[in-house]
Order: sequence, then structure tokens, then C-alpha cells
Amino acid sequence: MNLNLASKVYIVTGGAKGIGAAISKTIAAEGAVVVVVGRGKEDNIRIVDEIIKAGGKASYFTAELSVAQACQDVINFTAEKYGRIDGLVNNAGINDGVGLEKGSPEKFFQSLHKNLSHYYNLAHYALPYLKKVKGNIVNIGSKVAVTGQGNTSGYAASKGAINALTREWAVELLPYSIRVNTVLPAEVWTPLYENWINSLPDPKEKLEQIVAKIPFEKRMTTAEEIADMAVFLLSDRSSHTTGQIIYVDGGYTHLDRSL
Ligand code: NAP
Repeated sequence: MNLNLASKVYIVTGGAKGIGAAISKTIAAEGAVVVVVGRGKEDNIRIVDEIIKAGGKASYFTAELSVAQACQDVINFTAEKYGRIDGLVNNAGINDGVGLEKGSPEKFFQSLHKNLSHYYNLAHYALPYLKKVKGNIVNIGSKVAVTGQGNTSGYAASKGAINALTREWAVELLPYSIRVNTVLPAEVWTPLYENWINSLPDPKEKLEQIVAKIPFEKRMTTAEEIADMAVFLLSDRSSHTTGQIIYVDGGYTHLDRSL
């Protein structure tokens, strides 16, 4: 299947590590330009070098996305450098463990800025460019939006809002033929996941318990499997798919727990 991505330009937030890195590489492998956005300059340089060595087209913009102005800067950089923006992948986020009991109102608010505000801000600033080319938006959500996890109110609230905004934006952007979808992972081995599991009392045992409950093949989803769905949704091969929340999770969220 030809995804027709050549000559297009995509922004991937958190694009240097984990799921975002897999999405960046997949976009580049399909012949499009990828702009990797993240707060770690060294991480950004490393992934862009890797993509270019593999024959792809990429550049990076270093930004802490919880700052609204940084989101405007990302869009300005991309528009000035390439003259177009075909798609936005909102992916950067962190399960920061701001609980109801152990957190605080200030930490909760900060968590929303780390996980939610930049999804809105980037979509808002990218919109004039997306309108010109009938571009589209792919958000990366989390199972936490629908299952809860405990002790992570800020992250759960953000991911719940991302599901709601997917439908909300899909409706608002119908007149412009801009599609909006969310890919929703559950258990994917990434630096974020490794940090989270290591924060638990017995990480090895906990990991075994989790993996044993993933219905499809009793294994974690790979970052590449998330990327393949995200890039398909970016492409015009999914040209009549909008407002969807697509679970790429080996059945973890919906299938019978007794499996
Ligand atoms: P990851 O391994 O931590 O990679 C995320 C990247 O985004 C990192 O480079 C990180 O920088 C960067 N980043 C995070 N917040 C940022 C900010 N405010 N400004 C700039 N850069 C920022 O995470 P991942 O596991 O790939 O997760 C990617 C997405 O998938 C997230 O939205 C997450 O909620 C979602 N997700 C993941 C899983 C899973 O099992 N892994 C499950 C459900 C949902 P630093 O390295 O400096 O932190």
C-alpha cells in the first residue's frame, strides 16, 4: 500500500524517544519530512542523525512544550522552513503520578500543562497551515483515559480530555476536511514505561503480571505497532476516518479479563 506521504511535512512531539521516535522513523521511511520536537536537544540530534543516515528527511526543534509560546515557536519554525504543515502528531506526555491524595492543586494544574495544554496549543497554532492542505491531526492517548490507574489524576484527566477533544475537533474541523483521530496504547516498552515500572515496589513481578494479562500473544505492544497505525491515520489511505479512538493494545482494554 502506497501511503502517498512523499513531499509532505509532519510534526511529531516527543519524537525522539519511545513511541514518538518510532512514529518519526516511520514517517521518514515513507518519504515525508519529519520535524522532531522535544525538550532534549541531544535526543533530538541523535534521532534526526539516525533518520538522515537511513536516507530520510528530518529536522528538529528543541522545546519544553508545557510553555505555550514554545508551541507557537514550533509551528513558526516548521512553516518558515518548509512552507507547509500536513499533519501534527501530538504525542509528548508523562505519567507523572499526581494523585488525588498525594498530589496538590498546583501539581495537578502543572500536570495538565505537561500532558494536555500543548495538544490544544499546537493544534490551534497549526490550524491555518492544516486548512491550506486538508491536513490532519493524530493524538496519542492512553488506556488510563478509560480504565483509571490510581495515583495519577493529572495524567488521567489529560488523557480523558484528549479523547473528548478528538471528537470535538473532528466535528469543528469538518468544514475544512481536516481529520482528527487518536491512537490509544496500553502497554508499550519505552523509556517512560521503564521509569514507571521501576517506580513500583517489585518491578519484575509487576511486569510479568501485566504481560500475562495482555490477551493477544501475551506480549507488550511495540512502539512500531503504534507508529504503523498513527502513520496510516496521517495518510490519505484513511481518508474517511475521523473522530476515532483506536485501541492498539492487543485487546488489553476491552477483551475478557479472564482470558
Ligand atoms: P517516552 O519514552 O518518555 O518518550 C516521550 C518523549 O517526549 C521524551 O523524549 C520526552 O522527553 C518528551 N516529552 C515529554 N514531555 C515533554 C514536554 N512537555 N516537552 C517536550 N518534550 C516532552 O514516552 P512514551 O512511552 O513513548 O509515551 C509517548 C506517548 O504515549 C505519551 O503521550 C504517553 O502518555 C502515551 N502512552 C504510552 C504508553 C506506554 O506504555 N509507553 C501507554 C499509554 C500511553 P524526556 O525524555 O526529557 O522526558
